[in-house]
Amino acid sequence: MNIILLGPPGAGKGTQAQHLVAERGMIQLSTGDMLREAKASGTEMGRKVADVMARGDLVTDEIVIGLIREKLNGEKGGGFIFDGFPRTLPQADALGQLLADCGETLDAVIEMQVDDEALVDRITSRSTCAGCGAVYNDKTKPIPADGICTSCGEKHEFKRRADDNEEALRNRLMEYYKKTSPLIGYYYAKDMLSTVDGLGSMEEVTASIASVLDA
Ligand code: AMP
Repeated sequence: MNIILLGPPGAGKGTQAQHLVAERGMIQLSTGDMLREAKASGTEMGRKVADVMARGDLVTDEIVIGLIREKLNGEKGGGFIFDGFPRTLPQADALGQLLADCGETLDAVIEMQVDDEALVDRITSRSTCAGCGAVYNDKTKPIPADGICTSCGEKHEFKRRADDNEEALRNRLMEYYKKTSPLIGYYYAKDMLSTVDGLGSMEEVTASIASVLDA
């Protein structure tokens, strides 16, 4: 089963994708993670996108479609979770074509709805384990006092993302509403869209997603 998790920054796409990887053996394809990796390893592409990402703008369709194409050619089985991709209509068209080319289909698009105020609150208080990427939140899931990540059981740094500040977030939200939210209509018209309330507890959201996938 191949699915898209669609929603604004801070909707909980990454957290729910990690859960689906652990529970169902699916494969998470996060273009944000791929771009951050490219940036951290100092590739030419990573250097090119660093400023764009820091501002909260979208990187070009060509770059992210190329990243997804590479992954789809390399990974097999398990079912893909597209997390943070597609973010524009051309990306959505490209994804349909890429999946068709490798004999796969898109089975569900799950829109995670969260109101803007909650997004700002979530994003400005989140951090991730540098080892495994598990997401923490100062209010709802604070970093353990002993500094040991509850997901990987190891002691790593807990990092805040460079673009998790109010100014970049405002821009990321604007990009979402201008360029990504039209995908809601696009997938609705293809009869693929399901919507879950992303505001509940992590367990509640997990249960809502499970009921869509198991329907
Ligand atoms: P994310 O981790 O999904 O919030 O992505 C972080 C940043 O990476 C975004 O603000 C964009 O600058 C860039 N990015 C990630 N995925 C895409 C995409 N599909 N299209 C364009 N830019 C992306």
